Amino acid sequence: MGKINYEAVGLKVGLEIHQQLDTRTKMFCSCPTRLFLGEPSKTVLRRLRPTQSELGQVDPAAMFEFQRGRMVLYEMDYETSCLVEIDEEPPHELNRESIETALTVSLLTESLPIDEIQVMRKIVIDGSNTTGFQRTCIVALNGSIEVEGTTIPINQICLEEDAARKTGEKGPVVQYRLDRLGIPLVEVTTAPVIFTPRQAQEVALAIGRILRATRKVKRGLGTIRQDLNVSLKEGALTEIKGVQKLELISLVVENEVNRQLSLIGIRKELMSRGLTEADLKNQFHTVTDMFRNSSCRVISDALEEGGVVLAVRLPKFSGLLKVELEPGLRFGTELADRARFWGGVGGLFHTDELPGYGISQNEVEELRGWVGCGKDDAAVVVADESRNCEYALEAVLERCREALRGVPEETRAANDDGTTRYMRPRPGAARMYPETDIPPVAVTSDWIAKVKMGLPPMPDVLTKQLMDQYGINRKLADQLVNSDHLSTFLTVMKDTALNSSFVATILTESIKSLEREGTPVNSLDDRHLIETFGLASQGVTAKESVQDVLAWLARNPELGPRDALDKLGLKMLSREELEKLVRQRITENMALVLQQGKGAEARIMGFVMGEVRGKADPKVVAEILKTKLAEALSSKS
Ligand SMILES: [Zn+2]
Repeated sequence: MGKINYEAVGLKVGLEIHQQLDTRTKMFCSCPTRLFLGEPSKTVLRRLRPTQSELGQVDPAAMFEFQRGRMVLYEMDYETSCLVEIDEEPPHELNRESIETALTVSLLTESLPIDEIQVMRKIVIDGSNTTGFQRTCIVALNGSIEVEGTTIPINQICLEEDAARKTGEKGPVVQYRLDRLGIPLVEVTTAPVIFTPRQAQEVALAIGRILRATRKVKRGLGTIRQDLNVSLKEGALTEIKGVQKLELISLVVENEVNRQLSLIGIRKELMSRGLTEADLKNQFHTVTDMFRNSSCRVISDALEEGGVVLAVRLPKFSGLLKVELEPGLRFGTELADRARFWGGVGGLFHTDELPGYGISQNEVEELRGWVGCGKDDAAVVVADESRNCEYALEAVLERCREALRGVPEETRAANDDGTTRYMRPRPGAARMYPETDIPPVAVTSDWIAKVKMGLPPMPDVLTKQLMDQYGINRKLADQLVNSDHLSTFLTVMKDTALNSSFVATILTESIKSLEREGTPVNSLDDRHLIETFGLASQGVTAKESVQDVLAWLARNPELGPRDALDKLGLKMLSREELEKLVRQRITENMALVLQQGKGAEARIMGFVMGEVRGKADPKVVAEILKTKLAEALSSKS
């Protein structure tokens, strides 16, 4: 696709950035804010069950899940969750440390704190909250930030509890871990006044910098999550959930613009072909017998399980199902997504991609004849239990009717490659109810004044301070401010005598390059980093070895830097060991020493350094060599 004029297509983007806070305890209980990785100490199985009064407000997709008899298996351990998470004890008071951090973010974004924080309930029935709702509260309103000379309005700053984290799905049972439930999140929402993909990314980066400036946020993958609202003038509002990397935002927006433009193109083509919604009929054809001996795996597997094969004709859709909407995603993919979501159907085939997948040309001809396909028509086939097939094809037809109207409003989930996939229809504005179990918290002017006193510097001020105080260049200072490791840098500079540029480079460029090579750098914690620098500072290992030690620790996070030095053989040699080695090399090369005298120094230095590079300071080696060589010469003369 060529270059897009974003102004002409009327692109508007709004951001919602969610950042986990690094508070001592969770939002409504005294459990710590960390995850557990081992086996759960307890599991609880529950059926999804919205109460009667809530049924009217839940979105249709969630209701559908409920009707399908979804069950949830909660996994917990006793250290990271208590009776509050499992909803067997009322929530405790709102954690004041989390409010202070939200207030800090509010003041840094020039938002106006509200007088009284009232916790609200937002209905969520996917099972990610044991209560059936998420607790959220507005902390401040009407702020703004400057990004590249443009004022971006910040609509609101909220504090909310994180949901349980999904760890699997088996049949009707969804599995969640309760460790993440209740960790406080700050949510920063911008107005939808961002007009290009690049600007969306710049604004997200600027907000990320402000959040990190509080030094009260968690770091690493999954601790910051972006939701984007993307709309085009002739398109619709798409809500994209869960972009995990700030660097992907520009690409995600670009892909969504392309998807909407392609859908607008499909609509125009369908109109010009004269299709009307009435032409799309729910007439399903049972073609099970036709595929009885099919060599298509998906179909034969479904038949073996006692399923059926159902087909539907899509009049005037020929050629449109293969139109690419995003890299690797076609209009046919949107149909398949819907079939999977509403019918639980894994395999969907359409005539634009056939013959293929074990379905022969003959079978395609027969299929087209069976459902009455004309030249311009397409057909879609699904194989599963009969009821599921019907749900799936109804959803496919509904998606095709939407194609005639343009771009459907929907919620999509971000993939790791910057594309998106269908998640559910866009719910109406979430209804909120006051959380009566938690008393409101007054935000007094004294409290705000106190937060103001301790306000951390804004990112650009911080950059300047780092340059002045530590003598590092602007690029390194900027990278530190943008990285997760600023506090590590400050600790290392306080505790060691290492060179500031060296420490900053390791914490920014070296860690980034390790990540690019596929090293799991997210498993490195502060302890690893600080101890490794400490060992380099004490001369236990060479500065040159720090990057290798960190790479090893990232792969063996349960062990420490001293283990890394042992395994990698990167310990520095002691003075005694060095002296012994130098003496040996002089003795072995005595002929050379006698012949060249002091002239032999450079050669022998080369031999020794070849053996001890990374394990000895060259200055020390040179000094020992000079002394030992002088000794050897004087004893021979
Ligand atoms: Zn708890």
